Amino acid sequence: MAYKIPSKEEIVNAIASCMSDYGVINSQHKLGDLVRKKIQEKEQLYHVSDERIRRLAVNHRLVDLELKYKEARGGRLPHKCPICGSKLNRLKNMTIDGGTVTLGYSCQTCKYWTGLNKNVPARYVFSSRR
Ligand SMILES: [Zn+2]
Repeated sequence: MAYKIPSKEEIVNAIASCMSDYGVINSQHKLGDLVRKKIQEKEQLYHVSDERIRRLAVNHRLVDLELKYKEARGGRLPHKCPICGSKLNRLKNMTIDGGTVTLGYSCQTCKYWTGLNKNVPARYVFSSRR
């Protein structure tokens, strides 16, 4: 099966249109299906992954994102945001002797954060920005 890749603009427009139709979409897969359906109205062979749709939705600030996590035991902490690919900021605290201690990491673009026990996104809720 051959696919065609829609342009960023087409995906962004489809996301914006789905968000205004539905208001709240409570899973990444559901958002993916709705957006694919929308872009396939224009071109049947268009395909785009759930992940690309999620990143564009967050990076273009088309949605308010609510995240639910599960905690992963072990494993490395991410350097880049697993949701949107932005750089993570270190969350730190001063220690009594003037040093700093890392508490975790957070993303400035979306709402992802993790403590030293890695938070793994388990569920996404997208709502349209007012
Ligand atoms: Zn992020």
